[in-house]
Formats: sequence, C-alpha cells, structure tokens
Amino acid sequence: MQTLESHLAGSWVRGEGAADTLLNPATEEPLATASSAGLDLAGALRFARERGGPALRALTFRERGELLRAMSRAIHAHRDELIGLAIANGGNTRGDAKFDVDGASGTLAAYADLGAELGDLRVLPDGDPVQLGRSPRLAGRHVRVPRRGVAVHVNAFNFPAWGLGEKAAASLLAGVPVLCKPAISTGLVAWRIARILVDEKVLPEGAFSFLAGGPGDLLDHLGAQDVVAFTGSSATGRLIRASRAVVERGARLNVEADSLNVAVLGPDVEADSEVMNQFVGDVVRDMTQKAGQKCTAIRRAYVPEAGLEEAAEMLGERLSAVRVGDPAEEETGMGPLTTAQQFRDVREGIADLASAAQIAWGGPAAPAGKGRGFFVAPTLLVSRTPSPGDRVHQREVFGPVATVVAYDGTAAQAAERAAWGGGGLVASVYSDDREFLEAAVLELAPHHGRIALGSSKVAAQAVPPGTVLPQLVHGGPGRAGGGEELGGRRGLDLYTQRTALQGDRAILDAIAGGR
Ligand code: NAP
Repeated sequence: MQTLESHLAGSWVRGEGAADTLLNPATEEPLATASSAGLDLAGALRFARERGGPALRALTFRERGELLRAMSRAIHAHRDELIGLAIANGGNTRGDAKFDVDGASGTLAAYADLGAELGDLRVLPDGDPVQLGRSPRLAGRHVRVPRRGVAVHVNAFNFPAWGLGEKAAASLLAGVPVLCKPAISTGLVAWRIARILVDEKVLPEGAFSFLAGGPGDLLDHLGAQDVVAFTGSSATGRLIRASRAVVERGARLNVEADSLNVAVLGPDVEADSEVMNQFVGDVVRDMTQKAGQKCTAIRRAYVPEAGLEEAAEMLGERLSAVRVGDPAEEETGMGPLTTAQQFRDVREGIADLASAAQIAWGGPAAPAGKGRGFFVAPTLLVSRTPSPGDRVHQREVFGPVATVVAYDGTAAQAAERAAWGGGGLVASVYSDDREFLEAAVLELAPHHGRIALGSSKVAAQAVPPGTVLPQLVHGGPGRAGGGEELGGRRGLDLYTQRTALQGDRAILDAIAGGR
C-alpha cells in the first residue's frame, strides 16, 4: 500500500505512528496511508519563508506566470494518471475527475496569462494616483507588495486537484510560497500532483511544500505576515478563525465554507422552453456531479407555486436516468460519496431535511444492490409551505440532495427565502423577463458572491453555476465564510499588502512601475 509522504523543507519525509487510511469509496478497499505525526512543521514554514519567499519575490509577474504555466503543463501531462487516481480515491466518475483535474490546470493557465499581462512588474499598482497638494507634484497612490510570510492552503476533500491549483495560482503569482494541506481522505491526487511538481523541479526550492496527514500544530507557527486560505466546513472554519495565529498574531485568513446555493426559476418560464431545460439540467447536474459534493451545488431550487409539481416531476424524471454505481464502470452516471463519514452525514441529513419537506425522489435508504461502498440515491425533496426555521434553510447536506421550494413568483420573495440560508456562494436565476432578472439580482446580490443568469439568448453557451471560473470571484458572505478567492487580479489581494504612498508623484510612479 502506498504511503503518502510530505514535502517539507526541501525533502520528502514520512510521519510517524498511527496513520490514517485512504479508501476507494466504491469498494472500501484501502489505497494508501498518511501521517503527519512528528514532522517539524515550524521548520518547514521557516524554510518556505526564508527560501521560497525571496526566490519568488526576485521574479517579475511574467516570470511567476511562466512557473504557473509549467505547473499547468505538468499536471496536464499526467492527466490520465490523475483522473485514474480520482476515480479510485474520490469516487469520481471520469467526468467528475476531469472537472477537478482540468480545473486545476485550467486555473493555473488562466493565472499564467494574468502574469503575462502584468508583465515585468514586481509591485502591483492599485488604482490611479490622486493629487494631494496644491500642485500635482504632491500625490498619493496605492501599491500592492507580496506578504513576507508563507501561505498555508487547507483544502476540502471534494476538489483535491482544483483546490491545490486554484489557491497555488494566486499565491505564487503574488510572490508568496505555498504549503498545501489537502484533506486526508482524498489526498492521493494532491500528493501525486505534489510529487510531479517537485520531482520535475517545476518551482524554485521552498516555493511549494506539501503536508500529507493531519494539520498537527501547523497553525501554531503562523504570524502576521502569513496567510491561511481555508476551504471546508463552517465548523472547522470557526476553529481556525478562533486560533491564536489569527486572533492574537494577526495571520490573514480567508474562509470558503458551506453554502445552501439557490436556483430561482422565473414565473415567465414555460415548461417546454429552452430556459426550463437549462434550469432542470443545472439542478440535476449539481445533484449528481461528484455525487453532489460540490460547495457550489444547488441545494434549494425556487419554483413559482403554480409550477411546483410539474418542475419536481421533470427533475425526478431526469434523475431516474442517472445510473448510480462504481465510477470505474463507464456507464456510471454518479459514483459513491467519498467517505464513510459522508455516507452517515448525508443519510442522516436527508432524514433531517424531510422533517419539513416531502421526499419526491430517492431517500435515505441505500440504492438497491449496493452492499459495499458509500452509495446513496440522488434525492429530491419538495417544500410546499416553507418557513425560515426549516432544516432545508439551515443544514447543508453535502451530497446528491436538493429541495424544490415554493415561492409566489416575485423576485422579492424568492430572494427573501434564499436569504434564509444565511449567505451563499452562488445563486442562479432563469428567466427571459429582464425586469424580473434585474430585480432578482439586486435582491440576491447582498447575500451571494456570484449570480448566474440563465436566459434563452445564452442557454446554448452558458457555463453552469456550479463551475467556478478563474476570472470571477469565488466566495460568499455569511455562512459561506465571508471569503473571496480568484476573480482574476482580485485573487492576488489575499497574498499582498496594499500600502498607500504619498509624496513626489514622479517617485511614486517610478515605484509603482516597480521594475
Ligand atoms: P472539513 O472537515 O472542514 O476539512 C477541511 C480541511 O480542514 C481538511 O483539510 C481538514 O484536514 C482540515 N482541518 C480539519 N480540522 C482542522 C484544524 N483544526 N486546523 C486546520 N485544518 C483542519 O471539510 P471537508 O469535509 O473536507 O469538506 C466539506 C465541506 O467543505 C463542505 O461543507 C463544503 O461546503 C465545504 N467546501 C467549501 C468550498 C468553498 O469553496 N466554499 C469548497 C469545497 C468544499 P483533515 O482531512 O486532516 O481533517
């Protein structure tokens, strides 16, 4: 069985003592072990700061972009192998695995392009100069410079490749070294990527470290110049938020957490229209892709009361065509949940949601004929008379589960009911009525980091709402963590210090030109 090593302070090292075991969730066969016990994490962070930081800061944005391009190419060159590992360790179908692996190489490539665009700068100008004195000579302007610490990237189990790639892209382009800590349960893909990057010497020494196994005392050694970019559950997010590294020593923290994402079907949408087809397709894709284990998956689908039963029927019909099974088999449309814990949580969660909604398709019982593996059926619930305290608006069931929720057909009520979820990553709205779309955007935007508008003019080329794009911001307010990642150049903000300069305009411009 494979032992996953960590890459710390320039060497591959193994933890001691009892290790965690990574499984194939379709067969429950053990695949690998990982342990971080006894590893010198303080030394690893110091090495990253002292070796990786200066090496990256010596480069221009263009040169750092070239490193990202090389990372993207290295991952792509091993695409088939990585897809195979994601199928085995993540319960991913081939399509799910591509989404993760290509998401990693694609995001790195997008940030490589941004590096080329920013060119030969080392300092990032932030906005235009402003006149401060009587003459234009005395000016003020803002610049961004790389933080002098290390960026600790703590990732969730569901996107081991993309999580590594999207965080590393922004951090390395900003000039800040990375220590990547993937979730243990699906760490095989991230570990293999780490091995590829290190063995092929894609990055300067110290720019990339990798921790296989638990977080240990990692956070205890972080200080004011360091960054923690966390993706995972709200519960772990709260622990990290309360850590001494953040509260007392001022390490910068970004949290990407749970979300009860919504889809809103406009009152103008006819059952046989292209927009309806887009709505149904997006809900079913989000329920079944990665077995619903996507932070951006639609959990609540708002449908006008008059069309509720018809929409639920259409969704159920589409779900009935999804074959649940071993993702290693080609005809499988949806694989298992990723871990035994997930299996327990999701089945318990379905029963919990059913306290105030009716199961219309699927349910908590395991699908027929599945003796081994963490399989659940895609499950659709219907909430005909919703109220804010319903579990549907409180609990994220992180699996192939969504609830159709009634509303009166006004944008105001859809948004009010969406807000019961406490803040989300993404909302999608489906309509050809411009006034409805505009009203929905204004009402939904304070509660969501991203809004996808589905309409007949773009239905044929739409990017599904569950897909996170490097050009657009990812993150959301409230329970979603209040964080922000990606969004092109905005993604660099987390890793850089914005400093206001005031003085002679000519000097400021030369600094902001930063060669
Ligand atoms: P999790 O249990 O919170 O774990 C996330 C990561 O945190 C893992 O790497 C875990 O490591 C680590 N961790 C646990 N305790 C820690 C501690 N005390 N200090 C530092 N790190 C710690 O979440 P998960 O089950 O992997 O992921 C599912 C959740 O993530 C869902 O709620 C989903 O909505 C959310 N998610 C959000 C986004 C987003 O972008 N907003 C994306 C994906 C997933 P170990 O594996 O070693 O325990």
